[in-house]
Amino acid sequence: MNIILLGPPGAGKGTQAKRLEDERGLVQLSTGDMLRAAVAAGSEVGRQAKPVMEAGKLVSDEILVALIAERIDAPDTANGFILDGFPRTTAQAEALDAMLAEKGLKLDSVIEMVVDDAALVERITGRFTCAKCGMGYNDRYKPTKVEGVCDECGGTEFTRRADDNEETVKSRLKAYHDQTAPLLPYYRARGVLRQVDGMADMDAVAGEIQTALQAA
Ligand code: AMP
Repeated sequence: MNIILLGPPGAGKGTQAKRLEDERGLVQLSTGDMLRAAVAAGSEVGRQAKPVMEAGKLVSDEILVALIAERIDAPDTANGFILDGFPRTTAQAEALDAMLAEKGLKLDSVIEMVVDDAALVERITGRFTCAKCGMGYNDRYKPTKVEGVCDECGGTEFTRRADDNEETVKSRLKAYHDQTAPLLPYYRARGVLRQVDGMADMDAVAGEIQTALQAA
């Protein structure tokens, strides 16, 4: 099964993608994670992407399409994948259609996670992640049980994304509304778009996604 999770930054796409990986044996393909890895590795792609990401703008379609084309070819996607953060523009959606057609694959479902902009700034600026196991937390909505200690692995080091600050979040939301929201009618017209309430708690959202996928 091949799925796209669509929604603004902070909608919970990453969290739900990880649950779907466990529940359905799919692979999460997060272009944000791929770009952050490229920045950390200091590669040419990373060098180009870094200032764009820091400004909360979108990295070029050319770079993104090349990243996904290479990743989708890896053998671990044979059971299917969850695209998290891709496509973000009409050009990327068209390139994805072409890639899938060439491989004889189909897109089963596009899930839109609907969330209020006002809630997003607060959600995003509170996010932090365990540096050891990658478990995600939030100062306000999901703190660690013991302060400073990861619930999952006992790690004591945490990281925050450089672009999870209020100013950058505003440009990221603008990029979503201007460049990514036009994909909603694009997928609605193909009959694959389903909406879930991204404001509900994580388990309820996961339940709504499972129901939407059963209908796919
Ligand atoms: P994310 O982790 O999905 O919030 O992505 C973090 C940042 O990476 C975004 O604000 C963009 O600068 C960049 N990025 C990730 N995915 C894409 C994409 N599909 N197209 C363009 N830029 C992207």
